[in-house]
Amino acid sequence: MLGLMMGKPLLISSLLRHGAEVYAEQEIVSRRVEGDLHRYSYAEAHQRAQRLANVLNKFGIERGDRIATLAWNGYRHFEIYYGVSGFGAVCHTVNPRLHPSQIAYILNHAEDRYLFVDLTFMPLIEAVHGQLETVRGIVVLTDRAHMPDSKIPGLLCYEELLEQVSETFDWPEFDENTASSLCYTSGTTGNPKGVLYSHRSTVLHSLIIALPEVMNFSEKAAVLPVVPMFHVNAWGIPYATPFTGTKLVNPGPKLDGDSLWDLMESEGVTASAGVPTIWLDLLRAMRDHGRAPKKLEFVVIGGAAVPKSMVEAFEKDFGVEVRQGWGMTETSPVGTINVVKQRQRSLPDDDRYELQTKQGRKLFGVDLKIVDEDGTALPHDGEAQGELKISGPWVCKAYFKQDDDNAHREDGWFSTGDVATIDPNGYMQITDRVKDMIKSGGEWISSIDLENAATGHPSVAMAAVIGVAHQKWDERPLLLVVPRPEAEPDSESIRAYLSDQVAKWWLPDDIIFVESLPLGATGKILKNRLREEYKNHLLDDS
Ligand code: ADP
Repeated sequence: MLGLMMGKPLLISSLLRHGAEVYAEQEIVSRRVEGDLHRYSYAEAHQRAQRLANVLNKFGIERGDRIATLAWNGYRHFEIYYGVSGFGAVCHTVNPRLHPSQIAYILNHAEDRYLFVDLTFMPLIEAVHGQLETVRGIVVLTDRAHMPDSKIPGLLCYEELLEQVSETFDWPEFDENTASSLCYTSGTTGNPKGVLYSHRSTVLHSLIIALPEVMNFSEKAAVLPVVPMFHVNAWGIPYATPFTGTKLVNPGPKLDGDSLWDLMESEGVTASAGVPTIWLDLLRAMRDHGRAPKKLEFVVIGGAAVPKSMVEAFEKDFGVEVRQGWGMTETSPVGTINVVKQRQRSLPDDDRYELQTKQGRKLFGVDLKIVDEDGTALPHDGEAQGELKISGPWVCKAYFKQDDDNAHREDGWFSTGDVATIDPNGYMQITDRVKDMIKSGGEWISSIDLENAATGHPSVAMAAVIGVAHQKWDERPLLLVVPRPEAEPDSESIRAYLSDQVAKWWLPDDIIFVESLPLGATGKILKNRLREEYKNHLLDDS
C-alpha cells in the first residue's frame, strides 16, 4: 500500500525560493574580481536567478543542456547555480586549475552550450577557445564598463543580458531525478570523469549538511566557503545556505590568510570550510592579530588529512573548533564528519585532538564498509584496514558518458580508492590510498600521467612518481628516474620537457636518479616501498 502524501519533487529552485520568501533580507556578501565588496539579499539573488533563466530561454537552451562556468565563489556564480539548474539545464562547474588541454577536453565531452567566465579566466579561455566544439557563446561575468578587450569575437556581457529580460520566471516542476549539475574529477589515468548530480541528490545532501552536527546552518550563522564553487559545488554550501537563512560570504579570488581574516572579521563569519593548505596561512594571520576573527566558531576541514598540530592550533590557541570532513566529488561530497561525540568531549585534550585526526562518522543517508582484497567486509574494530566503499542517495552510480569504470563493479557500492579503518564508535580513518594519485593543496595530480609524460623523454628508461609529505601542500610529487644506459641524467631537461605537457603546479618538486626501481611479482613498480623510503624527502629538505 502506498502512502497518500503529495509526491512533490525535491528541486533545487525550491531552496532559493524558500530563502527569498522566508529570509528575504538575509545577505550574500561577495568579494568581486573587480576588487570591491558586493552585498545583496536572498530576495535579490532570487530575482536575478530568474532573470538568468529568462536569458537561457532567449538563448534557446533546452532542458538537460549543459552550461559551463569558470568562476570564483561569488554572487554571480551563485545565480548561475540556481538559474541554470532551476531552469532544468545542467550547471557544469569547470576547475580552472586543470591544464588547458584538459579544460578543452571537459568542455567538449560535456557538450557545453554556453560558457560563463570570470574576468580572471579570460587568458585561459583565449588559450582554449579555438578547440571548443559545442560552445555557442561565452558570457563574461561582469558589467559593460569592465568588459575585456579580447581576441575572441562576440563576447557577451552578463549584466547586460540580465537587464534585457524580465525578473520573473516560473520555476518548472519536473522529476526530482533530473540532472542538475556536473563536475569532473581527475581519474587515476587518462581524462577526467564527469559526476552528474540530480536535484534529488543535491536537495537531500543540502538538508543533511545543514544539520547542527555537520555545518550547523541557521539564520544566526554566517558561512564563508573557501572551498571553491568549481570543486564539488563548494561542498554543497551554496545549496544549504538559502533555505536555512544562513548568511553567505564569498571570498572571490582572495584566498590568502589576511584577506580571509579581514572578511571573516568584518562580516561576522561563524563557520568556514576548506582544505588544510588554506588554513596554514589563516593560522598565521590569526597569530599576527593575536586572535581569531571575532565570531568564528568552527572550521570544516577536508579534502586531505588534517594534521594534529592544526587541530591543536585552532582549538587550543584560538578556541576555534575543527570539524574534519571526508568526501569525494563522487559523493556530493560529504560522506563523514568528525564532530566529537558528547561523551568523548571530556577526553584529555591530547587524546581528543588525536581523535579529531580521524575523518569522522557517516552522515545519515550514507553507508560505509571496508573490505579486503576479495571484497569481504572487515570488522569495525579500529584495527582492520580495507578499501572504503560507500553507498547512498548522493553517491554517484556511474560516470557521465563513460561505461568503462571499475569504481562501480559491485552493485550498490562505490569504491573510493581510499583505505580506511572504522572504529567501534563509528569513526572512519583514512590510512592509505589505493588510487595512484597525489593530492596537492586539495587538487589532484595523476602520477600515472606524469610517469607517461616523463618516459617520453629520450634519456628516461623508467619513471615512477610518488606523493611525499609537504609542509604546505600536504603532498607533492617526486619523480624517480632510471636513466637509459647511454644517457647523461639531466633534471633540467626533463623538467623542461614535462612543462610542455602538464600544468606548472604538477611539475615534480624533485627528480631523483636511481639505478633501478623495486618491482613486484607482476612487474609493477612497488610504490608503497618507494613512498616509505622517500616519505620525508621534502620535509628533510626544507
Ligand atoms: P574533495 O577534495 O572535495 O574531498 P575529491 O574528489 O577531489 O574531493 O577528492 C576526494 C579524495 O580526497 C578522497 O577519496 C580522499 O582520498 C581525499 N580526502 C578527502 N577528504 C579527506 C580527508 N579528510 N582526509 C584524507 N583524505 C581526504
